[in-house]
Amino acid sequence: MINMAKPQIGDDEKQAVLEVLDSGIIAQGPRVKAFEEAFAQMCGTKYAIATTSGTTALHLAMLAHGIGNGDEVITSAFTFIASANSILFVGAKPVFVDIDPRTFNLDVSKIEKAISKNTKAILPVHLYGLSCDMTEIMKIAEKHGLAVIEDACQSHGAEYNGRKVGSFGTGTFSLYPTKNITSGEGGMITTNDPVVDEKCRVLRQHGMRKRYYHDELGYNFRMTDIHAAIGLAQLKKLEKFNAQRQSNAKFMSSNLKGVTPPFIPEGLSHVFHQYTVRVPAGKRDALRTYLNEKGIGSEVYYPVPIHQQTFYVNDLGYKDSLPETEKATLEVLSLPVHPALSSSDLEMIVSTVNEFMEKN
Ligand SMILES: *Cc1c(COP(=O)(O)O)cnc(C)c1O
Repeated sequence: MINMAKPQIGDDEKQAVLEVLDSGIIAQGPRVKAFEEAFAQMCGTKYAIATTSGTTALHLAMLAHGIGNGDEVITSAFTFIASANSILFVGAKPVFVDIDPRTFNLDVSKIEKAISKNTKAILPVHLYGLSCDMTEIMKIAEKHGLAVIEDACQSHGAEYNGRKVGSFGTGTFSLYPTKNITSGEGGMITTNDPVVDEKCRVLRQHGMRKRYYHDELGYNFRMTDIHAAIGLAQLKKLEKFNAQRQSNAKFMSSNLKGVTPPFIPEGLSHVFHQYTVRVPAGKRDALRTYLNEKGIGSEVYYPVPIHQQTFYVNDLGYKDSLPETEKATLEVLSLPVHPALSSSDLEMIVSTVNEFMEKN
């Protein structure tokens, strides 16, 4: 079976974990600090704050920007549920804007119409490894005095006009095993704002500035040194992993027939967390079944847009109409693109897709 993801854990990661276990400092310690510094450097930000997951990174970013009850945050419904749930965690309301059908990211021409007097932030999701239109988003945010919290959970190292995602607003990253790099479970927040940095650090540790004095309600979102040691070893390989993903994607885009390959706007570097094609309506699920029979994994990210998820409809009363988002859920199919694919794997994926598309 050619799987959708394969974490690349080598001797570096194993050795790093053993060193932590032998050191006696297992919880948040010097490895977390070193990982944060290296991550900030990769991203080109002043600060990075490690957390337990991408979800808690998003949650903490919301809190650090003071987003709460009655506030609205503009985001996409074509993403993993955590993007929007993090807005709910703090009592605020996700306001969904439709996507650009070419990039699957927020359609920036529709953002301003969604702004109300309660809007506090824009949460662009850099889906599949491709940056949103950050020039336009930063312009709108500045004009209306809004915070920008980037969901870069799928876009470690992706660039927009030579600048890394996560360095425009407050960035949030996931280090889950299927992501471009992993720490087991884990997350990272990136920022240039010392106030956001301090707020994240305090709230990550039960609102504690002085030991056992709690100024405000906080959480335990601390990363362990064990996870940080894995993350640090992985971070060193991020560029290599991303280059391999890009090369795999390039091969597929040059050879696939009958499906629409990913679009890369001028000036952007796509890091292909997912390689996602559009399949003409009605053929997608049959193609998926065919690939599965031939031993090739594939996945639909995402089959149900967030505004149509059961509890968003039943408990929260969402009844938005987002035509491009809804159309995308019926047409997208992600194919394996991870760095461990061999050239024969890639040839097999391409020939199997082409075979099906020719016959159907
Ligand atoms: C993975 C992911 C998250 C959540 O990250 P976890 O580490 O799984 O909590 C959030 N947003 C997007 C777009 C993701 O892909």
